[in-house]
Amino acid sequence: MQYYPKSRSLQLEVENLSSEWLSDPDFKDAVIMMVDDEPLVMEMLQTILEEHGYKNFVQIDDSRQAIEAVNQQQPDVLLLDLKMPHLDGIAILEALRKNSKTQYLSVIVLTSSDDSLTKLRVLELGATDFLAKPVDPSELVLRLRNTLTIKAYQDKLAYYDPLTKLPNRKLFIERLQWAIKFAERENHRVAVMNVAIDRFQQVNNSLGTRMGDQLLQQIAGRLINSLRKSDASSRAAVGPIGRNIARLSGDEFAILLPIIKSKAAKGILTVATNIREVLKEAFLLDGNEVFVTASIGVAICPNDAEDSDTLMKQAGAATTFAKENGRDCFQFYSKEISEASKRRLSIESGLRRALDRSELSLYYQPKVDASSEKITGVEALLRWERPSEGLVMPGEFIPVAEETGIITQIGEWVLEEACRQSTRWNEMGFKDLKMSINVSTQQFRGSNFPNAIEKVLKRSGLRPQNLFVEITEGMLIGDIQKISDILFEIKATGCCISIDDFGTGYSSFNYLKSFPIDELKIDRSFIIDIADEYDDQAIVSAMVAMAKLLELRVVAEGVEHIQQLEFLQALECDTIQGYYYSRPLSVTEFEAYYRTRNFNAKIRDKDYAVK
Ligand code: C2E
Ligand code: MG
Ligand code: MG
Repeated sequence: MQYYPKSRSLQLEVENLSSEWLSDPDFKDAVIMMVDDEPLVMEMLQTILEEHGYKNFVQIDDSRQAIEAVNQQQPDVLLLDLKMPHLDGIAILEALRKNSKTQYLSVIVLTSSDDSLTKLRVLELGATDFLAKPVDPSELVLRLRNTLTIKAYQDKLAYYDPLTKLPNRKLFIERLQWAIKFAERENHRVAVMNVAIDRFQQVNNSLGTRMGDQLLQQIAGRLINSLRKSDASSRAAVGPIGRNIARLSGDEFAILLPIIKSKAAKGILTVATNIREVLKEAFLLDGNEVFVTASIGVAICPNDAEDSDTLMKQAGAATTFAKENGRDCFQFYSKEISEASKRRLSIESGLRRALDRSELSLYYQPKVDASSEKITGVEALLRWERPSEGLVMPGEFIPVAEETGIITQIGEWVLEEACRQSTRWNEMGFKDLKMSINVSTQQFRGSNFPNAIEKVLKRSGLRPQNLFVEITEGMLIGDIQKISDILFEIKATGCCISIDDFGTGYSSFNYLKSFPIDELKIDRSFIIDIADEYDDQAIVSAMVAMAKLLELRVVAEGVEHIQQLEFLQALECDTIQGYYYSRPLSVTEFEAYYRTRNFNAKIRDKDYAVK
């Protein structure tokens, strides 16, 4: 590790980054400040240390100037005499410890006193070490070296990510701030490129965090290599970019690109393309091949923002935008992204209060028996009545709720509310009406989901077999044993398990045999053209036949027309859900619809359907 005093480190390191971690410590550049009222003592100390290769010294013989000098020069270590006129060592130490800038400065106290009370007091104030006066040369060199080693280690911990050995967010931001200042002076520009690994959580979930860590290390290595390669080809446009790379958080990296030519877009694109290229090849993790893509966002200073904080946020927003638009792509920050990210923020902040303010409600979409055309169940679908703008649909706010973790609370509420409503309907004589609820990945994988179901079932008095938990195929990918355990625990509560959006999850159908599943819901995309498209007819026929062989119930989702209904009836598909019968309804609307359809009151489907 190369050792640089902090104040100069940024300039030196910008072109020479990640090797610091690996090479041998060399402290000879450290700035050593001495405060002593006897100049002769300082001369002697300096001579000893110079003989050992140290080069940078500051001597202060007037103790009243010490604090100011420390603040200005930011030494790496302070050799502080205890007994001085005007201001003694203890007073200086006290003042330094009170200031956040100098709070952790390494201080070696020089004292001729054997008074242990004084020593205790000095220790209490956080002196790093003691040296007895008169100073023994070998003792001095040893203590100084120890102190600098500890300091270097602490700096490393504070500024580097221990897993990938890359600079961390803190160091990245310091470098960015420096780069922005430099760019201002030289009339250059600076870009921040944010690289987020797509679906990294899935690797953690399926192969475990140890493999996840290995993957991150390998990714870091490839990113560094790709930057070295880009360096040559795009240097002309974007300047030296060699190793300005950091790990910001879990699966998020960032790259600082100083831009020295006006036509930098091409250079930035080359860097992004190279990054995507090096990630394409399979990663080998304990014999498993893992494929990785990245979503990349870029913001440029001063075009998009003039300060490091905003620039980081904008690069992050561009990345989020790239993720939401299909991942594995590259995105410059723009006005539209600013709008989209404002909207997202507004959704996020509104959502945090929505539950407390009772702005969330459940709508219920009827599930109708294909042959009798009676309602046999409902699917509970979330709605958010936002005072400022009316109804917000789940497609917009569920992804935000999932990303921010708010989904956990919302999910608990949905479970509770749906079961309570279901019990009420049973009491009203809507006999054996099945209640389906949607579950998010986080909820499903959360530590005590089966437990929560069990409690809610008890509290609400709902018969377990009337509760259907809808999960998607995506949730079944990963650690098969763990998933199987969760499914069997859910099943043990007595409720039923339904596979939602069936056919869209790209997973093998093997799981249908081994997991305790009760129902398949064929995704709407297969139903849309079923009246005309032979391919869709073939797929849906096969799905229904397979479900029957495995003794699973089949629901067709998104049925809108009589032709679709007739085709599904001919296949003997069990249940129909879709606008043909009814859109999702409020509680009172649903009660009216149920009465007309199931109690043979006069049916007026058109009031409920979307045609
Ligand atoms: P989903 O579970 O597949 O729900 C079916 C979606 O299709 C609903 O959209 C429903 O209104 C819509 N739909 C039903 N019939 C038709 C039709 O005939 N034509 C068309 N075009 N659409 C139809 P919605 O209510 O907007 O919900 C969207 C998704 O949001 C749901 O898809 C589900 O994944 C999620 N979601 C809804 N409520 C919850 C919830 O409480 N928790 C969780 N985790 N996710 C939920
Ligand atoms: Mg559903
Ligand atoms: Mg669905």
